Amino acid sequence: AGRCEGKLALVTGAAQGLGAAHARRLAEEGARVLCTDINGDGAADTARLVNEALDREVAFAVSHNVTDPSDWEAAVDAAREHLGGLNVLVNNAGIGVAGNIETCDFEDWKRCFSVNVDSIFHGCQKALPLMREHAPGSIINISSIAGLIASDTMPAYNSSKAAVWMLSKSIALHCAKNNMDIRCNSVHPTFVDTPILDGTAKAHSLDKGILLEKLARQIPLRKVGEPDDIANAVVYLASDESKFMTGAELKLDGGISA
Ligand code: NAD
Repeated sequence: AGRCEGKLALVTGAAQGLGAAHARRLAEEGARVLCTDINGDGAADTARLVNEALDREVAFAVSHNVTDPSDWEAAVDAAREHLGGLNVLVNNAGIGVAGNIETCDFEDWKRCFSVNVDSIFHGCQKALPLMREHAPGSIINISSIAGLIASDTMPAYNSSKAAVWMLSKSIALHCAKNNMDIRCNSVHPTFVDTPILDGTAKAHSLDKGILLEKLARQIPLRKVGEPDDIANAVVYLASDESKFMTGAELKLDGGISA
């Protein structure tokens, strides 16, 4: 049997990159998966590809802006309808914005916090009631190694991802102390080859291949991550294999923080 048999998972930001990999790996391990994204067509493409590859209908999709509480209500309703409940919530959608502390535009700062942090606040408030009905459950928040290690060039991203890290611990303690049988952990990848790095390459006027080589040289393992390196950690956290793990951070960083 798959490692996530019986799991009912909602993955945000599932149109591409890491979110699409989490959705595919969870489904491969037996979960039913609701793919959500502000790019609803992209989320639908992810679900279609998963179902085609597995030759069964286990992935579904809805359009969902994670900054909008009423969209969260609709997404939770869609989980009830398509999955039959919810017990795994992967808060993956996230953005970076440009600028150091002197140049970062305040609107960009707020947008970064809205997508990366407010999303988890709304998501937990809207999803926890249904998750409690389908416990055991797992909330998996995709932070970043940038939530643990600072850089002068991304104060908004650094501090939003640090907020995700600490928020995850607070959620974990709340769920544990109220006997919900729901765990919450954060995941901290270093650079992974996804479309998010297209933006980074453009911002530095670099060819993406050159950027990947430059990034790889900063990592002790001498390579950037692959989406499945992170998605496999999400499978572990979603499954009951990690049933004693809550309030923890899982670093997938090629040794960069060692
Ligand atoms: P990506 O840009 O390739 O994909 C992000 C997805 O989120 C996109 O499909 C986008 O449409 C969606 N999204 C953006 N705003 C949204 C909103 N308001 N509502 C719903 N969906 C929205 O990024 P990725 O590399 O796959 O990153 C996924 C997560 O992993 C992010 O939280 C990111 O910060 C984190 N992360 C990525 C890396 C990396 O190097 N790729 C490293 C560390 C952490």
